[in-house]
Amino acid sequence: MDFDLGEEAALLRGRLRALIDANMPPGFLGAFTDDPSDLATTQEFCALLAREGLLTVAWPTEYGGQGGSVWAQTVVREEMWAHHEPRGAQYMGLNWVGPAIMAFGDDEQKRRHLPPIAEGSVIWCQGFSEPDAGSDLAALSTRATEDGDGWRLRGQKIWTSYAGMAQWCVLAARVGPGERHEGITMFLVPMDAPGITVVPIESMLGPHHLNEVFLDDVPVGPDGLLGEVGGGWSVIRRALAHERVGIARYARCERLLSLMAGELRATAGRLPDHLAVQWARALTQVRVARLLAYRAVLAQEAGGPPDAAASAARIAVTRCDQLVAELLFQVLAERSLEAGPSAPLAGAIEDHWRYAQAATVASGTLEVQQMIVAKDLLGRSR
Ligand SMILES: Cc1cc2nc3c(=O)[nH]c(=O)nc-3n(C[C@H](O)[C@H](O)[C@H](O)COP(=O)(O)OP(=O)(O)OC[C@H]3O[C@@H](n4cnc5c(N)ncnc54)[C@H](O)[C@@H]3O)c2cc1C
Repeated sequence: MDFDLGEEAALLRGRLRALIDANMPPGFLGAFTDDPSDLATTQEFCALLAREGLLTVAWPTEYGGQGGSVWAQTVVREEMWAHHEPRGAQYMGLNWVGPAIMAFGDDEQKRRHLPPIAEGSVIWCQGFSEPDAGSDLAALSTRATEDGDGWRLRGQKIWTSYAGMAQWCVLAARVGPGERHEGITMFLVPMDAPGITVVPIESMLGPHHLNEVFLDDVPVGPDGLLGEVGGGWSVIRRALAHERVGIARYARCERLLSLMAGELRATAGRLPDHLAVQWARALTQVRVARLLAYRAVLAQEAGGPPDAAASAARIAVTRCDQLVAELLFQVLAERSLEAGPSAPLAGAIEDHWRYAQAATVASGTLEVQQMIVAKDLLGRSR
């Protein structure tokens, strides 16, 4: 299988790697470690990527992008995830919030919200899940009630990644008596609006990652409505499909496998046969995940709904995440607590393992992804 995306892609990869080498601290493990400088580091790197024209390579030029192909965007995703996502929480704005605003927003919303995303100066979060609405997202009960020209939001969100550091949230709420999917409506909500309380959830994913968000009669102006009243389900489907394709963790898996092989060769001369077999199996799974991700990108490029392709890719990616995590632990567990600049692989083993556990839940559980694929094969839309 030839994964070569051509000379331009190779040059782009080279540029990205050089920028990461020159600007990210050695041993960087993502935006949610105990290091208090993580947030500033990722914010500065996003601004740098924006100045270099690499943050929104595939966005149209009218919205601050470079008008490049989805394949250029794929290269950016791969290099970012392979190096522990130096864009931090901003990847969400780039991957799906911006595209959702392009697709469903009015001119004023595009003018207001797209430039800051393209400049790398804003963090968005996603307010979908609720205590009683996770897999069954259409059961969500946060209410939006009309109030003059605008709205008041009341309810609770949970597992909201980055809510404590985000300036804006794309939030799903129920308007009117509509049942399940029909009543769902999307809002663009400033996180400093009165009535919003963010409560961090302690988790193994590190500080600042997961949160509860309480909404106590939060006022939202008429300009906060994204798309049609009752039209939120289409926005959610599109958002989740983009999100699922946008997280290129297969690239991190492949880099970790390669670092692992290098490390073992350096210390043991050559991999013992049984480990070489496991390593080759894991690499095969990673390549399968990559192939499925490329199929989803192709579906996006063709403009079709990528739901099932995105879910198939997500299933493969999360499984190889866990496979690689187990293999790394099995082989290098005793080194996994050696973090820091001198041990980029060792620190990453433990970090990768923790995130791999959550991977089959975040962005829709494994079972939910399997159902989306099955329904697509059976020709059912819901
Ligand atoms: C790291 C992480 C980050 C997240 N970030 C966000 C975020 O930023 N914004 C946001 O809105 N949400 C976020 N979430 C929430 C995530 O989308 C939900 O956790 C997920 O959709 C599952 O919902 P739940 O936790 O309520 O589990 P449940 O829906 O209660 O599921 C529990 C179990 O039952 C299974 N199950 C449920 N229904 C079915 C069914 N019909 N058939 C078969 N099995 C079923 C599930 O697969 C799962 O194994 C995040 C979650 C994680 C782990």
